[in-house]
Amino acid sequence: MRQPPLPVTGRLFVAGEWSRPRDDFADRNPADLDEVVGTFPHATPDEVAAAVAAARAAFPAWRRTSRILRAECFDRLAQLIKRDTDALATLMARECGKNLTECRAEVVEGLHMVQYVFGAGRQGDYGAVIASEIAEKDAFTRRKPWGVVAVVTPWNFPFAVPLWMLGPSLLEGNTCVFKPSEETPAIAQRLVELFVEAGFPAGTVNLVQGSGPVGEALVKDPGVNVVCFTGSYAVGKRIQELSAALPERTVAAEMGGKNAVIVCDDARFDLAVSAGILSAFKTTGQRCVSASRIIVHESLIDRYAQAFAETAKRLRFGDPLDASNFAGPMVNRRGVEKVLEYNALAKKEGAAVLLDAGELRTGARGCFLGPFAYRMDAGPTARVLHEEVFGPHVALVPFRTDEEAARIYNDTEYGLSMAVITESYRRMRFFRDECEYGMGYVNLPSIGAEVHLPFGGVKKSGNGHPSAAALVDAVTHKTAWTVNHG
Ligand code: NAP
Repeated sequence: MRQPPLPVTGRLFVAGEWSRPRDDFADRNPADLDEVVGTFPHATPDEVAAAVAAARAAFPAWRRTSRILRAECFDRLAQLIKRDTDALATLMARECGKNLTECRAEVVEGLHMVQYVFGAGRQGDYGAVIASEIAEKDAFTRRKPWGVVAVVTPWNFPFAVPLWMLGPSLLEGNTCVFKPSEETPAIAQRLVELFVEAGFPAGTVNLVQGSGPVGEALVKDPGVNVVCFTGSYAVGKRIQELSAALPERTVAAEMGGKNAVIVCDDARFDLAVSAGILSAFKTTGQRCVSASRIIVHESLIDRYAQAFAETAKRLRFGDPLDASNFAGPMVNRRGVEKVLEYNALAKKEGAAVLLDAGELRTGARGCFLGPFAYRMDAGPTARVLHEEVFGPHVALVPFRTDEEAARIYNDTEYGLSMAVITESYRRMRFFRDECEYGMGYVNLPSIGAEVHLPFGGVKKSGNGHPSAAALVDAVTHKTAWTVNHG
């Protein structure tokens, strides 16, 4: 196991060279803001342009490299991730405050993506042979890489999400410039070090660090063919607007959610409570698929509200390195302030508060926030029922009929994930067909991802290029090749 010494010395990685270290910004542990995890350079516009130029220069040779040899690099990368799983998880927990058990699971999810990419590449890609209308002709389809992919990622899955996008992009022959979140530069740098150790050639993976303006400079660069973005709707929309000026640009955008769990009157009660708790509060509610609404049949809601609040009160939010804690802190002070504002807004908008744990004192100077749960009737005007909160904040909303539950679920501008808790196959089918979502779960929490399944949403949650293995449609274009052998 390799633990990087802290604080990490941050560098950029361009054209196969690590830059000289700079300490333009400090990366702090949100569980203890006095701990500096590392200091990092904030890439200048020239450095961003150099990274894109390096990726462009490396593209022709990488595109011509056998797909099977490209895949072999992922096999070596998988070995390195296995070797370093514990160290990667510990660094991630320190840097972004996620519980150590969840960080380990995330490293394993990243590993699964790398293994998936290796397997897909090892099968080769000879295109599909399709019939021609003329007997003397053969016709084929082949996928071709677009060129340079900008990979812009959020802080909350700082290892797996980059791999969901870097993996398929590189396998298909594209080269990449990676811009991680300013909140998680250390785990990003460690990931790029592993790519280097695995033998990816110079220029195929480049790393620029820094905040939003660095991402914006990257997205504005006309040398970028595809932007693979995961993050908030506001930033995704800005990236789509900037890209609209470039007609050949493809944007794959995975964005936020206003997810929900629907608890039917035939639900197994304990399962419904635990699915609600995990959906709302796992990762301190900071997952794109976290549920901030639990839509409960009116015949159950009094009993459900009581059991939910009692269970939530017992959850332990504390040091992320102590795996026995249920969850860790918010990622930063801004995240805390934002959730507190939504908690206050809910009260103003008529919430009947069930639990308000507020800010938590833990001894260390951290960003700890406890659960906030309330009951509120559905309505078109309450902002708290329509906007993404991204924290431990959840509304319990009553419904009478399945049609009403589906209407309440759909009454947001997002469409990412949903869970339904029911024993009825007929109902499960009804919600499957009537709700607008990308990922649906039955008798499970609304959270979780598997790399061989598409991961993405509709409406403000995504633009139809789901992450994970399905992303291949965004990073390649399909060509037809017709041969006359008559
Ligand atoms: P964010 O604020 O949207 O940031 C995402 C990335 O975009 C970061 O690297 C950010 O840099 C960068 N960025 C900011 N402004 C930019 C600009 N003008 N141009 C280009 N890049 C820019 O999101 P976050 O707070 O890191 O993550 C939380 C959000 O991500 C939530 O909304 C969550 O739902 C969503 N999310 C969605 C999925 C999914 O699969 N649908 C998965 C995970 C998270 P800096 O942060 O360094 O400023």
